[in-house]
Amino acid sequence: MLNSVLIANRGEIACRIARTAKRLGMRTVAVYSEADAAALHVRLCDEAYLIGPAPARESYLSIGKLLKVAQESRAACIHPGYGFLSENPDFAEACAEAGIVFVGPPPAAIRAMGLKDRAKALMQQAGVPVVPGYHGDQQDANFLKRKAYELGYPILIKAIAGGGGKGMRLVERHADFETAIEAAKREAASAFGDDRVLIEKYISAPRHIEIQIFADKHGSAIHLNERDCSLQRRHQKVIEEAPAPGMTPQLRARMGEAAVAAAKAVGYAGAGTVEFIADGSNGLKADGFWFMEMNTRLQVEHPVTEAVTGFDLVEWQFRVADGKRLPIVQADVPLQGHAIEARLYAEDPERGFLPSTGKLVALSFPQGDGIRIDSGVEQGGEITPYYDPMIAKVIAHADTRTEALNNLARALGETIVAGPRTNLAFLGALCRSADFRDGKFDTGYIAQHHDELGLDVHGIDAGAAARGALHLLSRTDRKSQDETEVAPSPWDIADGFQLSGPRKTILPILINGEPDVAVLDYGGRQSVFVHGAEPDMAVQLVETPGAVYVLRAGRQTLVALRDFEAAEADHADSDGVIRAPMHGKLLAVLVTPGEAVTKGHRLAVIEAMKMEHALVAPRDGVIGDVAAEIGAQLAEGARILSIEPAGTGAA
Ligand code: ADP
Ligand code: ADP
Ligand code: MG
Repeated sequence: MLNSVLIANRGEIACRIARTAKRLGMRTVAVYSEADAAALHVRLCDEAYLIGPAPARESYLSIGKLLKVAQESRAACIHPGYGFLSENPDFAEACAEAGIVFVGPPPAAIRAMGLKDRAKALMQQAGVPVVPGYHGDQQDANFLKRKAYELGYPILIKAIAGGGGKGMRLVERHADFETAIEAAKREAASAFGDDRVLIEKYISAPRHIEIQIFADKHGSAIHLNERDCSLQRRHQKVIEEAPAPGMTPQLRARMGEAAVAAAKAVGYAGAGTVEFIADGSNGLKADGFWFMEMNTRLQVEHPVTEAVTGFDLVEWQFRVADGKRLPIVQADVPLQGHAIEARLYAEDPERGFLPSTGKLVALSFPQGDGIRIDSGVEQGGEITPYYDPMIAKVIAHADTRTEALNNLARALGETIVAGPRTNLAFLGALCRSADFRDGKFDTGYIAQHHDELGLDVHGIDAGAAARGALHLLSRTDRKSQDETEVAPSPWDIADGFQLSGPRKTILPILINGEPDVAVLDYGGRQSVFVHGAEPDMAVQLVETPGAVYVLRAGRQTLVALRDFEAAEADHADSDGVIRAPMHGKLLAVLVTPGEAVTKGHRLAVIEAMKMEHALVAPRDGVIGDVAAEIGAQLAEGARILSIEPAGTGAA
């Protein structure tokens, strides 16, 4: 058996590969970029080598550096994971030349499937159904436009070197063809350095159904059932499951045979995925599926196949790479229960899914039967802008699809992430979405259920913000005159005078970094209000030194205290008088008459509710008089000092 492996990847897949390698008794060698020095995969492996700066081009994509480490560490094989160099035939070839086993298919098979046009032509020859279209050498825009017309709209323009949904354009009307092809070519040239495209019929109500295949080096190939990856956003997978809803044993056998034929046609060995597009209008049909492309590597969503078959696909990869035969025949491939995977990303669904980087202030996952978490980051770790912002894959496995969906929704609900924004709420909404649960969905589902899935811009979660403000008021580490006092109630005002007037105080806070206020009503209601909402107590709180994260239904609200901008509560009159915004004791005056100040300058500090509140200048000016004495108890609205416009001051 191969006794050691260099894992040429990072993140969750590097961790996942290391886990199996260790179980098999292999020595594990990690590589990392400067940005990943503290990453989990580095610590999980027996050895780790720094291979360069953060940009992937200078580290994880550097064939020379990887081979140098492989030689230095005397690694018996290299596992490329997915992404990065996993589908690079030059890398596979370079490994072979250096005498290191590449855990993947032969370079020729990678090359044959690398470009979509050649792959389609090959598949057609092998008798595999391909999506109708034009995938010849002609690239003249007028010629392609004529082909599109003959095919009939809607059509897809695809970059032949494409991947990750890039360089793809849906064209619904003949008149839009030119603009679309220009855009597709531009995108393809910049993303892949190759602007060639093909034209394909756009399948209506499309379902993405792919077949996991495995081949050994002795000519045997089998499939390990299908995965349905139709829940996509911009042609990128969000949720994947096995088996596919509506799949029949007959159709599975047909798709499986086509996938195995595809693998055999290119002399495949190892793990691979043959992706098909299926016509999902009125249910799946035996003659309604077509080859799209083959991914010649392990796929992100392989855990759902592991769940329903009980096999460890990474172990199979190592064994095949080592020249072993497939352990079973087609007829013995199991299919047990139902598995669903959700990709948890550090991104903001309310802002067009922009990646959200930063420190993972809190991160924890539920454990339990039928729940698997594949992650490559930890609490305290960082989501950097350099790589894919995936936090984890959450996989649920149960007897039935409904149970699996319920378990996944529960697991997502119990997942805690504070720091970067995430798609947790969105994934939870997908699990609960009625038509998806009923199996009525295609690749357009997410776009069509935009609002139901919570993808519109939400306002502030006022109940969560109020809960955060209440927490900041009552937390033990806040300023207290008596250091031994524990967690005094926010209503326990020790300011030494009777409250009068409107029994309310304004607490200046920041909600998600934006200035706002909480209103403390210590009269009848004794509560904290933000935008009229009372604290929502069914939340999770994650404390940091200066702030608190309030987690509710997969969304986070960050609440912090801030200095008080004297202008905002109308306590700076137009005559420039700064008044106390709340009942409290004047602890300090930080300016003297005649002093020039700029907007935001700290003027005075008031203590109320056992907390210090700084008052800051609402505008530029010169300090006039100071009317209040340090140590005095001030009533709300009491005059403290005045600011005059610059140039007319007392000086
Ligand atoms: P596809 O969507 O192309 O059919 P996958 O679902 O397997 O295939 O996704 C592969 C993608 O994962 C890569 O194209 C890349 O964007 C991303 N990726 C690559 N490496 C990593 C990594 N270490 N951690 C997380 N994501 C990665
Ligand atoms: P990539 O290399 O970017 O993964 P694919 O060819 O696999 O490109 O297509 C990505 C996604 O685009 C598919 O999963 C599917 O949702 C959609 N798609 C691709 N081809 C078609 C088609 N002919 N009709 C409808 N949808 C398609
Ligand atoms: Mg694809």
